[in-house]
Amino acid sequence: MNIKPEILALFSQGLDSILAIKIIQRQNLKVKALKFITPFFGSEIKGREAEYCRKIKGSYEIDLEIIDLTDDYLKMLAAPEYGYGKNFNPCLDCKIIMLTRARLRAAELNVNTIITGEVIGQRPFSQRRDTMRRIEKLSQTEGLLLRPLSAKLLPPTNAEESGLIDREKLFDFSGRGRKPQMALAEEFNLKNYPTPAGGCLLTDPGFGQRVKTLYENGRIPTATDIELLKFGRFYPLTSADEFIITGRHRLDNQALLNIADSRYYILQLAEMAGPVTVLKGPESKLPDAAVKLIRHSKAKTLPEVRIKWRKGKENGNFTIKNPGPAHQSAPNLKNHDN
Ligand code: SF4
Repeated sequence: MNIKPEILALFSQGLDSILAIKIIQRQNLKVKALKFITPFFGSEIKGREAEYCRKIKGSYEIDLEIIDLTDDYLKMLAAPEYGYGKNFNPCLDCKIIMLTRARLRAAELNVNTIITGEVIGQRPFSQRRDTMRRIEKLSQTEGLLLRPLSAKLLPPTNAEESGLIDREKLFDFSGRGRKPQMALAEEFNLKNYPTPAGGCLLTDPGFGQRVKTLYENGRIPTATDIELLKFGRFYPLTSADEFIITGRHRLDNQALLNIADSRYYILQLAEMAGPVTVLKGPESKLPDAAVKLIRHSKAKTLPEVRIKWRKGKENGNFTIKNPGPAHQSAPNLKNHDN
C-alpha cells in the first residue's frame, strides 16, 4: 500500500542518511526516501530497482523511490556552473541538481520538508556551513531542507517552526568523528549498515581523467560510453568521441561484451582466445583497435594475425601484419573483408 509521505529524504545508503530517516520516523512521521542514480554513483542498481527497494525496505523499514538523473547529469558534467572539485567531480552542481529534483518531487507529493544525512564539517568543502547554506539557496530549498544530525547547529526550518518536527529531538553533530553516529546506530539497533564510503567514481583521479577525455571538444558521452570506461585499458583516439578499450582479464572481457551495443565494434582474435576489444569510431579505425588487441594478446609474437569483428548485425574479419611493439610504425592491413 502506498502511504502518503509527510517528509522526503535523500538516501545514499550510507549510515548518516539512514540515521536521519530514523530520527524523523521516530517522531511518527511518514518518510519517503529518494535515491538518485547516475553512471557515476548508484549505477549498480539500474535494471534491478524494484529488488533494491525491497531490500532496503526489508533491512531498514525505509520506503524508497529511485530517480535516474543520467541525462541531466551527463549534460551538466560538460560545464558545471560552479566548476569541478579536485578531480572531475562537480560537487556543488551535483548537490544542486539532486536537491532541485527532490524539491520538484516534494511539490508533486505535496510535501514541505526534505531531509538529508549531512553533518556540518564532515566533508572539507561540501559540508562546510557556508557551502551548505549556499547550496540551499541555489537549489531553492531554504526553509525546506533539514539536516536532522546537525539541525541544532543550524537555523530552524519551516517544519521545526510549525511544530511538525520537534527540534528538541534532533542533534548537534559536527566534524569528521563517527562516534555519535555509531552510538545512535546502536540506539536504533541498526546492524550491518554500510561503511561511510564515498561511492562516487568522479572522485577517482584515474576514472575522472578518462571521463574528462570524453568531454573534450564540447562532446557529451552517452551513458553506455561511461559504463564501458569502467573496464579495461582505455585508449582515446584523436576525436573525443572515439576510443578503444581492451579487456585486461576475463571479467573485463565479459563486462565489455555485455555492455557494448550495436553502436560499437567488438573485435576478437579469430584463431585463439584473447582480450575483447571495443571500438567506438568509424570502420576506418578497426586497424587501430586490432593493434591494441594484438599487443595485449598471445598473438603478439605471430607475423600475421586474423581478427574477427562485429557491430550489431554486421560482422567480418581481416588479417593484419603484426604491428610489433608500440614504438614501431602503423599497421599494414590486408583483406579487410566484410
Ligand atoms: S562526490 Fe560525487 S556524488 Fe558526491 S557530491 Fe561530489 S559529484 Fe556528487
